[in-house]
Amino acid sequence: MATDVKGIAASDGYGIAPAYLLVDPDLSYDKKTVDDPAAEYARVEKAFADSTAELTKIKENAKGRLGDEELEVFDAHIAILSDPEMMGQIKSDIEDNHTGAEEAVDKVMTNFADMLAAMVDNKYMQERAADVKDVKKRALAHLLGKQLPNIAGIDKPVVIIAREITPSDTSQMDAKFVKGIVTDLGGRTSHAAIMSRTLRIPAVVGSETITSEAKNGQMVVVDGLNGDVIVDADDATVKEYEAKAAAFEKERAEWAKLVDAPSVSKDGKEFEIAANIGTPDDVADAVKQGADGVGLFRSEFLYMGSDHMPTEEEQFAAYKQAVVGMKGKPVVVRTLDIGGDKPLDYLPLPEEMNPFLGYRAIRICLKRPDIFKPQLRALIRASEFGPLGIMFPMIGTLAELRAAKKVYNECLEELQADHPGIGKNVKLGMMIEVPLAAINADKMAEEVDFFSIGTNDLIQYNFAADRGNDTVSYLYQPLNPAFLGLLKHVIDAAHRHNTKAAMCGEMAGDKYALPLLMGMGLDEYSMSATSILRTRSTMKDLDTNACAKLVEEALDKCATDEEVKQLVEDRLGL
Ligand code: PEP
Ligand code: MG
Repeated sequence: MATDVKGIAASDGYGIAPAYLLVDPDLSYDKKTVDDPAAEYARVEKAFADSTAELTKIKENAKGRLGDEELEVFDAHIAILSDPEMMGQIKSDIEDNHTGAEEAVDKVMTNFADMLAAMVDNKYMQERAADVKDVKKRALAHLLGKQLPNIAGIDKPVVIIAREITPSDTSQMDAKFVKGIVTDLGGRTSHAAIMSRTLRIPAVVGSETITSEAKNGQMVVVDGLNGDVIVDADDATVKEYEAKAAAFEKERAEWAKLVDAPSVSKDGKEFEIAANIGTPDDVADAVKQGADGVGLFRSEFLYMGSDHMPTEEEQFAAYKQAVVGMKGKPVVVRTLDIGGDKPLDYLPLPEEMNPFLGYRAIRICLKRPDIFKPQLRALIRASEFGPLGIMFPMIGTLAELRAAKKVYNECLEELQADHPGIGKNVKLGMMIEVPLAAINADKMAEEVDFFSIGTNDLIQYNFAADRGNDTVSYLYQPLNPAFLGLLKHVIDAAHRHNTKAAMCGEMAGDKYALPLLMGMGLDEYSMSATSILRTRSTMKDLDTNACAKLVEEALDKCATDEEVKQLVEDRLGL
């Protein structure tokens, strides 16, 4: 019997494939006394052999996607499965006490893990305790006939079902096999949603119940355009959605014709539509999608994908790769925006009650020049290879902006001592994502070359609504007239001071927002690469004078976001 589940549409397209639950199975077991210890130990041997085979296969599949160090973890796990001392103890327990295989494995491996964890003077051995526990879970799952989830090991088409997806989960996903993602938690601007758009995987987030509705292997349809999910879909439904997917692909093919076209309105006004990227490897897709530049390179993904603080040289190589890859089109790199929902294993941060309001982004960088300076130096050096912009995230006050610029200027002077003129073409900008910075936009605009409005955070902070919390996701209201008024103030302030106004939050790719933003004269729209051609296609049918009138009407007459949406629909037939 098919079940319909509603969530938040997070990434365009349709995904149809069997469910793959990213949820740990129940590994509890009944204790028993066995009559045939030899047969019972044979079960252990088989479970260990199956675990070894499984790990070997996962490792093979992950080659090329994971680094050497991550791959070595699989070898460590395989080694644990053949540890003679551990095997000996499990065997004795079963033979001497007639213990069941599950209990013997659980007991002996837990003891091993505890013993390792107790080696307080040996950090390496302590860390192996977690490996033993992981392997124990895998062995128990085999004994109980259950499947442990493993993203890197997926080698056939699936729709991933999870409570939530972390950025590190998405980094292991192979879009060839992952046809869709559905989660219980998360909003449209959660980083998991953003990553699924980058990977072009249709996604619905914040469904609240999907992990309890779907079972492994059931056919699932994901409608990432409307936020609908159908679990245990019958053949007729699958056929219906296959037809919709084909029609969507056709529409995509139409948009694809605009790949080399300029981003212009119907009345010939030129804009820029740029791509948001997470790593230099995303540049290829941005170029393929006809991006006029990179409007946001989220540099923290470089840090999150590394097991150590990336060195100046490593960063320089990455930024240079992005700049060179864009072949003369501008690249804007945002300096490290860590904290909030983006942790770094090797940079322990204090536990906080409200991490989104806490020690994050520029606040960390200003306290840690040892982290900030190598990044700025790497960026300045990369600017020798093509047009580059650097922007600071989470600036709230002028003092913060000036402090960030001071560190930047120190780096510039240091580098210029040996390389006169280096960095002279760098454009400096700031994100507008803290309400105070938006209010103070006139003062801020005097001190930067460009603004990039981060609506994901700007909305979160203006509406006081956690962007990852689906219970309050109704407060994600980019079209709220009061918020539109604030945006207009920021864009007008930028233009009063000859400062470029860009936007890199998800609102920049929102089809209802587009005419309003064009009406306000926003210069650059930076979005997931997958949305660029659709936006260029809509843009060419919009007249900026009509858009400006629409803004006036929305601000004058509308009281709610729903009314604005209705107005846009009525006036433009969107
Ligand atoms: C934003 O806040 O709108 C933004 C673009 O930055 P991020 O989504 O990475 O916080
Ligand atoms: Mg932000």
